[in-house]
Amino acid sequence: MKEIYEALKRDKAYTHVLTLLSWDQETEAPKKSIDNIAETVEYFSKMKYENIINPVIKEKVYSINEEELSDLDRKIIKKLKKEYFEKLAKIPVEEEAKFLALVSKSCSVWEEAKVTDNFEILKPYLKDLIVSVKKFINYRGYEGIPYNTLLDDYETGLNTDILDSFFDKVREELVPFILKILKTKNDKIEKAKLKLNRKFDVHKQKEMNLELAGMLGFDFSRGVIKESEHPFTTNMSNKDVRLTTHYYENDVLSAIYSTIHEVGHAIYEQQVLDEYDNTGILGSGSTMGIHEAQSRFYENVIAKNMSFMPIIKGLLKKYFDFDITEEELYLVINEVKRQYIRTEADELTYPVHVMIRYEIEKELFSKLDGDVSVEDIANKWDDLYEKYLGIRPRTRKEGVLQDPHWVYGEFGYFPAYAIGSAYASQMFNALNKEMIAEELIANKEFNKINKFLYERIHKYGSSLEPKDLIKNCCDEEFNPTYYIKYLKDKFSKIYE
Ligand code: ZN
Repeated sequence: MKEIYEALKRDKAYTHVLTLLSWDQETEAPKKSIDNIAETVEYFSKMKYENIINPVIKEKVYSINEEELSDLDRKIIKKLKKEYFEKLAKIPVEEEAKFLALVSKSCSVWEEAKVTDNFEILKPYLKDLIVSVKKFINYRGYEGIPYNTLLDDYETGLNTDILDSFFDKVREELVPFILKILKTKNDKIEKAKLKLNRKFDVHKQKEMNLELAGMLGFDFSRGVIKESEHPFTTNMSNKDVRLTTHYYENDVLSAIYSTIHEVGHAIYEQQVLDEYDNTGILGSGSTMGIHEAQSRFYENVIAKNMSFMPIIKGLLKKYFDFDITEEELYLVINEVKRQYIRTEADELTYPVHVMIRYEIEKELFSKLDGDVSVEDIANKWDDLYEKYLGIRPRTRKEGVLQDPHWVYGEFGYFPAYAIGSAYASQMFNALNKEMIAEELIANKEFNKINKFLYERIHKYGSSLEPKDLIKNCCDEEFNPTYYIKYLKDKFSKIYE
């Protein structure tokens, strides 16, 4: 294991540099430095790749007798095989490089296509991306249908069997419920929205959000909060976790909920045990879905609960001398809207936005041969929005052009968002078996909630797979029933 540990140490150092560069680019670096940064990133990425993916390390990893290893070392070997040798190493280096170049070009074309609402210019790139990803699946192999290989990249163990049964419930139980709610009008919400329609000084918003992050348990001695266009969280170790939020003068709630979401991700990273963090490869959160479960647990399940409203009300009073009732806040924060854009969707309609992308991707990657029509994809997108949310995008910008994931080559990513929300509801149910969550929230005892998350999920870093983490947290397997019930109970009360 000695050589492997040394390679992992170098890997950790490369990752540190690369993460820091990308953090810098998103937050502080001047615009004109982009090409310089890209060059440095390319240089270190290559070194990082070759440090692990080389014949010497490969030989060590595959010749080791796993039965003689400690539990920790066995997990490291398993992860190395999965992340490096079974994924990347199966794709010829020249093809991978070509693909990265295609992604980079597609991203800039996508930006232009989105701004000018011109899908035509993106079409050939999107088609090439799909063809390349199919080719890669062919190299890597698959079980069931090809799409499963992609799903497993973002959420280990996830496949179309699990997702079909999850989305069947969303389609059968939530869609009719949502379509009914969208027809009802709630005058109270309109009135409350008018009240919030004013300016909130951005400097004061910053102070307020820092107080809120600290209240939830974000550790400022091991973390930093800055600003960026699109909020995100990144980490160099469990002692250096950085997040951003974005302030709008006219929308005080936007930054509050971005901060809470990112703090959910950040607390997860800060609570990973040193034992795993030190290895690099087992540090950090487990998977996309598990990570989103932590952020959505805080953002939706905790902070959109009625018991959280006195906290926001108190903060708005303290920083802006602004008065609003808890009920008014609750109604505005939980408003269900007809919305074309996924990232702006409310808690109830969110899984439907993801289901639409799932249906498209599943069909697209159900087989590796056959012709791909990107025009059909765009039309199918619009048809499904009409079918499930009763709205038809008026432009491609409101439709297929909205998300960057596909131009990054990230097919199979979206379902992890919805699964994350579903995990969060199940986690909340488990928490409530041990303590009364709403009382803890009302008393601002977030340390107790964090301790629960630490014991059952956070401390393990990525040493456990999603199914084991959920079992550990909830004493049962993933069960989407909690999510459907949670949403129906909550929103039928608001829109009764
Ligand atoms: Zn997130």
